Amino acid sequence: MRSNDTEPQSAKPAATVLVVDDNPINLKLVSDLLAFEGYRVLKADDGEKAAASVQEDPPDLILLDVDLPGIDGLTLTKRLKGDPPTADIIIVALTAFAMKADRQRAMAAGCDAYVTKPINTRELPAQVAELLQRREKPRT
Ligand SMILES: [Mg+2]
Repeated sequence: MRSNDTEPQSAKPAATVLVVDDNPINLKLVSDLLAFEGYRVLKADDGEKAAASVQEDPPDLILLDVDLPGIDGLTLTKRLKGDPPTADIIIVALTAFAMKADRQRAMAAGCDAYVTKPINTRELPAQVAELLQRREKPRT
């Protein structure tokens, strides 16, 4: 494998983002948006497929719809955050709920951030970039 150590920051390998949503329109919207930004994008349309994808090809960040058939997003978050090999993956809840209590439930489940649907296509790439950068910096 080629080393990127001496290359400028902009030439770093793209981060991998897993997008999970059972709504095909939303899944395509978010996936296309992040692929356009240069991320390597993986997709899943339910919780079981998302869990299998994480095991097979661990992403740097998951954009996770909370309301999924089968394993719901918050249950999957608790599972991933409770398992050391996957605990460091950044999880962003995609929630349709505007209620503060629902956002709190997402954070209590272990999500690192949440984004309220409908997706703001201007803001989401910046939010994702900021979360990935925040993890790269050593904690102060
Ligand atoms: Mg859904």
